[in-house]
Amino acid sequence: MKPEHILIVEDEEDVASILSEYLINEGFITSCLADGNEVVPFVKQTQVSLILLDILLPGMNGIEICKVIRVFSNVPVIMLTARVDEIDRIIGLEIGADDYVCKPFSPREVVARVKAVLRRYRTRAVTDEEQARQKIYLNKSTLKLVVNDNPIHLTPTENAIIELMLSKPGHVFSRSKITQKLQKCVANSQTRTIDFHIKNLRRKIWEHLPEEQIIQSIYGEGYKLAL
Ligand code: CA
Repeated sequence: MKPEHILIVEDEEDVASILSEYLINEGFITSCLADGNEVVPFVKQTQVSLILLDILLPGMNGIEICKVIRVFSNVPVIMLTARVDEIDRIIGLEIGADDYVCKPFSPREVVARVKAVLRRYRTRAVTDEEQARQKIYLNKSTLKLVVNDNPIHLTPTENAIIELMLSKPGHVFSRSKITQKLQKCVANSQTRTIDFHIKNLRRKIWEHLPEEQIIQSIYGEGYKLAL
């Protein structure tokens, strides 16, 4: 596996070199920059895995740098700060940093943070990528169905049906199986038939995916999701 490239932005030379030394010992490769104005051009040209970013720097300061980087990249950023009151700014300004470490810090702690943020980032990247590949998925945080990047409003019943079907694409769910699921998670789900809800779901999905029949009827058996 290619070693991960960590960019250290720090104007105190001894701090930068000790961080670099620890990271190299852990199998990373590093680059160091001391001037805030050099960071954005560097990040645009060089693929880095993570940035350790000091706040007080000659030239552009760390907070400004982080904001500018966020416009074009989601590379993980850990802020390095010497002042406790800066932490509130880092969090309050929502500059898009992934974590922060207070000075004075132990290099070991920084290495541990770097590893943790990279792990989190990798998991996030896989999830985002998987979702982008999917034409249709349930966004667990907004509880909306997303079809071809369009969030769609569903009734609780429709939501429960599609959640069940998405749990096993290609599997045929009988009407009684779907009814069972609805009884468990939706109040008053009995008032309409399953076919009625499926019809509405199909219509909502069809608006954004007109070429495909995502929910298919299997005669005498039930419904399945064709993905
Ligand atoms: Ca500094």
